[in-house]
Amino acid sequence: MLLDCHTHTANSPDGQNTVAERCERAVELGFKAMAITDHCEVNRYYEAEHYEIRPDEKYHDYNFKVCYENSLAETARAKEIYKGKLNLICGIELGQSAYDAELSEKLISDDRVDFVIGSLHELPGRDDFAFIDYTKEDVNKLMEQNFTEILNMCRLGKFDVLGHLTYALRYASNYGVKIDLKPFDDIIADIFRTVIFNGNGIEINTSGLRQKYGKTFPTYEYVKLYKDLGGEIITVGSDAHTTADLGKGISDGIALAEKAGFSRIAYFINRKPHFINI
Ligand SMILES: [Zn+2]
Ligand SMILES: [Zn+2]
Repeated sequence: MLLDCHTHTANSPDGQNTVAERCERAVELGFKAMAITDHCEVNRYYEAEHYEIRPDEKYHDYNFKVCYENSLAETARAKEIYKGKLNLICGIELGQSAYDAELSEKLISDDRVDFVIGSLHELPGRDDFAFIDYTKEDVNKLMEQNFTEILNMCRLGKFDVLGHLTYALRYASNYGVKIDLKPFDDIIADIFRTVIFNGNGIEINTSGLRQKYGKTFPTYEYVKLYKDLGGEIITVGSDAHTTADLGKGISDGIALAEKAGFSRIAYFINRKPHFINI
């Protein structure tokens, strides 16, 4: 059984390939479902002029309005073309939704949107975690802020599943910095309880398996904790930014879900979960 609930195309600033190229490959691989979830960073939605730019800023991508509009239009068109051949899910990866709740609500209310991944890629007043030098940071403080912001985002609930809970570890790992998450187990449990209470889910993001980090975001212990707290909705996504990475690590992600006690995984159509038995 193959599906991929987290993929980016050239409509993301850091992605490649058209939606059609991606669909052709998914059909070739015999996918049951595939979600296109291009980036839409809520706090970078408008052009740079709209925002106060810090002099030390390293991350300069703005105008995600264009990514959002192009991605939804291209995926919605492809849905018609591939009808009967592929369960194509018109999704979006909404970054920092709590930083502008009103805009987030408007973006996720578009009729074309099937699926919303809620992600936190940056802290207020900071660059994306991808641009932080972890050797110069108090990483425990950084992680505390990170999980506090994620908890706030989950309370607002402007998404269907929480994306890559431990995203920052991908980049810390590139700097050779190991972060012990034990001190954050309580807040992570609060995050899961909030997600569950709101009827949302989490994802197993398999991109870490093909990166230096070497594990999923989050790892088995946290998927198990989510399950033990009553979590039922879980999606699996490769976070592919190229067609070559489509579906990578998905079977490992599904096996991990099963080991944690899940008997089914979810994908979303029209913002509603559908389940496939493992
Ligand atoms: Zn992301
Ligand atoms: Zn992504």
